[in-house]
Amino acid sequence: MDLGIRGKRGLVTAASKGLGRGCAMALAEAGVDLVLNARGVDALEATAAEIRSRWNVQVTTAAADITTEAGRAEVLAAAGAVDILVTNAGGPPPGTWQNWTRDDFIRALDANMLTPIALMTALMPGMIDRGWGRVVNITSQSVKSPIPQLGLSNAARAGLTGYVAGTARQVAPLGVNINNLLPGIHDTDRALSLDTGVTKAQGITLDEARKQREAGIPARRYGTAAEFGAACAFLCSQHAGFIVGQNILLDGGASMVTL
Ligand code: NAP
Repeated sequence: MDLGIRGKRGLVTAASKGLGRGCAMALAEAGVDLVLNARGVDALEATAAEIRSRWNVQVTTAAADITTEAGRAEVLAAAGAVDILVTNAGGPPPGTWQNWTRDDFIRALDANMLTPIALMTALMPGMIDRGWGRVVNITSQSVKSPIPQLGLSNAARAGLTGYVAGTARQVAPLGVNINNLLPGIHDTDRALSLDTGVTKAQGITLDEARKQREAGIPARRYGTAAEFGAACAFLCSQHAGFIVGQNILLDGGASMVTL
């Protein structure tokens, strides 16, 4: 399917690895010129080089911490005017409710709620001026079905989801569509780090931890960054103009919810 976005310009934050990288790959395949961000230069440049070599698109990199004001300023300066924004950042660490401090919550809110909001606030006026835009926020299945040990993530992402629910309806008449993609367990470094936490908590091997988590997913496997990216690119496509303010689960059926 031609996604109809060849020649558009997109910014994907936290894009050197994992789900952000999957989104960048799929957008590049659709012909989108990209601005990519992550903190570490090496993986970021390696991803940018692979994309340039596989697809005939322009790739600009901006190595910075997207959760800080200075980092965002650097990324936004490199990005300029973009038609497509995919927001992503690392997720908060697991823990227990007794131990989370105000500072922990502020860090989680900064990374997973206020950063995507700041990026939308900065970039949507240009999209509105040009009469077309797409925003996809990478959130989590925890928005629909909480993961108790990820309370910092549950809280911050719920805040972002509430913001999007209202704002998406305000910008849709102006040609801009905002939607959220909710990953379940995907085969990325983040999943490996959560599996490693399970090995320590339960005294089991990494393989056992993974099999245990796979058993809880009706699809009986982890998702891949490539299939996540394909869904993201579709939401950024011309065909997704009637999808507004939705929270789309990509979790192999793991979340026990009807809607
Ligand atoms: P990942 O494989 O660990 O990749 C994270 C990417 O984000 C890397 O490119 C990393 O590069 C970059 N990054 C992290 N913090 C950043 C920051 N402050 N500024 C700029 N770039 C940053 O993670 P993932 O699995 O793709 O997860 C992406 C998001 O989805 C996370 O918020 C995660 O909580 C959420 N999620 C993931 C899963 C899953 O199973 N994978 C499930 C539910 C939700 P640098 O470290 O070099 O900056």
